[in-house]
Amino acid sequence: MTARLNLVVLGKQGAGKGTQCKRLAQTYAIPHISTGDILRAAVKAKSPLGLEVASVLDSGGLVSDDLVVKLVEERFREPDAATGGLLDGFPRTIGQAEALERLLGDDGIKLCINLDVPIELVTQRLSSRRVCQECGAIYRDSDIEAISGTCSACGGDVIQRADDQPAAIRKRLEAYERDTAPLLEFYRERGLLVTVDGSKEPDEVTDAIEAVVRERGLG
Ligand code: ADP
Repeated sequence: MTARLNLVVLGKQGAGKGTQCKRLAQTYAIPHISTGDILRAAVKAKSPLGLEVASVLDSGGLVSDDLVVKLVEERFREPDAATGGLLDGFPRTIGQAEALERLLGDDGIKLCINLDVPIELVTQRLSSRRVCQECGAIYRDSDIEAISGTCSACGGDVIQRADDQPAAIRKRLEAYERDTAPLLEFYRERGLLVTVDGSKEPDEVTDAIEAVVRERGLG
């Protein structure tokens, strides 16, 4: 059996983690594990978990470490994660990174990719972002799908996420600096951190990430 490939993708909100992870998950045949997507799906389904976290998500705050660690633990138990996982939006605190190390044991994280994008650019990307509530397709406010409110891929409603409003964007970026930026040092110390310029076109970013994965003999 091939070794498990567990990758962490770090970066500010709007750095392009979701876009890159969707592509990488296909390339490396490992599941894309986005805690934000899992939490948003729970909110949409109005499950007990969703009802508990809805207001935290809308305001741009962070859900408790215990709760997200449990979600990730459950996700890794699903059969498709036997080959590994591509973590997007997790870990986002040192506490979560330590819990992840305990969870994965020796077969731990192979690489942490830091998608680096200046704060001005992510702020601009987030405020113009619109998303399809059904399939998650991402548009810009100037796209026809955003103006008409209908997704051209699936016909779902195209909306602005509540946490892409200016006050919530500020709060999320502050939380990134305070809680998540220290993870760069955490993974650097372990020799696992690689920084990729996330301000380039999506295809160029994908190529840069795949080159790093190859250089490290991981794929
Ligand atoms: P973004 O990174 O752009 O804020 P995500 O889709 O990753 O978007 O997450 C959306 C929201 O879900 C976060 O603002 C937070 O409330 C919650 N969330 C997601 N992942 C975590 C996590 N690892 N720890 C705590 N809260 C999380």
